[in-house]
Amino acid sequence: MKHADLLSIAKKYGDPVYVYDSEKIRTQFQRLTKAFSGVKNLKLNYAVKALSNIAILKLMNSLGSGLDTVSIQEVKLGLMAGFKPEDIIFTPNGVSLEEIEEAAALGVRINIDNLSILEQFGSKHPNIPVCIRINPHVMAGGNTKISVGHIDSKFGISIHQIPHLLRIMDLTKMKVNGIHMHTGSDILDIDVFLYASEILFETARNFNDLEFIDFGSGFKVPYKAGDIQTNIEELGEKLTRRFNEFCEDYGRELTLAFEPGKFLVSEAGYFLARVNVVKQTTSTVFASVDSGFNHLIRPMFYGAIHEIINISNPKGRERYYSVVGYICETDTFANNKRINEITEGDILCFRNAGAYCFTMASNYNSRFKPAEVLWHKGEAVLIRERETFDDLIRNQRDVGDLFAAKKTGVKVKQP
Ligand SMILES: *Cc1c(COP(=O)(O)O)cnc(C)c1O
Repeated sequence: MKHADLLSIAKKYGDPVYVYDSEKIRTQFQRLTKAFSGVKNLKLNYAVKALSNIAILKLMNSLGSGLDTVSIQEVKLGLMAGFKPEDIIFTPNGVSLEEIEEAAALGVRINIDNLSILEQFGSKHPNIPVCIRINPHVMAGGNTKISVGHIDSKFGISIHQIPHLLRIMDLTKMKVNGIHMHTGSDILDIDVFLYASEILFETARNFNDLEFIDFGSGFKVPYKAGDIQTNIEELGEKLTRRFNEFCEDYGRELTLAFEPGKFLVSEAGYFLARVNVVKQTTSTVFASVDSGFNHLIRPMFYGAIHEIINISNPKGRERYYSVVGYICETDTFANNKRINEITEGDILCFRNAGAYCFTMASNYNSRFKPAEVLWHKGEAVLIRERETFDDLIRNQRDVGDLFAAKKTGVKVKQP
């Protein structure tokens, strides 16, 4: 997006503000679709938790995407956005049987990731087929915070427990219509992914009623110059070949599913914040913005690096800054980073702010969550208003003179 357009959005809707470029989302969706054009039945289920604004979900629906959801609330957002229940898959972890039953009653596909719930669900609802989440025990990426397929992970049913799983199916007479893995965000290595896929194919041979195989996600996108990114085209070519071979062997044309979050929306997002203070200390120049980890926690939580551009002075002399927030706690966005000279009042633009940014925002320090704007066909569309003070107190109950009464020794009467 052009700096001038971003600046005009900040001017019109205030700051801090999130901006999403619909065109970038569309091209990423098409890139992935094209990479797997050799698969007869491809299904992309956008992972709602990356960015869950209903306008974004409607955009995904218009592109022909399905949804991957991890809570009943995400399921309901998807239905509100106009998705058909069968285009939504519910892939929770550690939720109650009741929540899964609620999703099943709404008609969405169910993905179960533990034997206890599988047995309970199968006993009560043998006629509702389910997908099962497998843990192939593969370490994808280097960071254990985002690697969820390894041996210690809480996610999925271990491949070593397949005999137990088959016994449950036999006893309950339930059907398994899909198998799934998600080895975690940030797959560095196509070979690791293909290796895990082979384990999934091997596992799939145990099930006779499969309709789809879901390979999860974890596609890496560049966050800064020189970053490794998943070569989707190469993965497409290699996995397509293996998938088609498998289908032939299995004797049925299955659907190949993915659940990309970051790949579709990360690069489409821009977060704009204003510099309140430029503070020179003995060792560092701090630029403090009107935000913090209450709005964008990835740098502090994951050590994620987001490019920061001074769009108010993009041609200015480069200097070193530590960009920090206004939260009363250490909330460093970037340490000693070269940025075009910053003056108080400048707007800084954080790149890759589409995935896991707004959706992880909080009200810490009693601050408002930012507004969200969709940039669509050269126009800015407000898709979420900035919060107001009313939002902070909405669910709080007034305790009246509860404490005044205690002080005088008078018992508070229950109504
Ligand atoms: C979070 C999640 C995804 C999306 O992962 P990305 O790295 O954002 O693509 C896909 N599947 C499941 C089950 C998830 O929990």
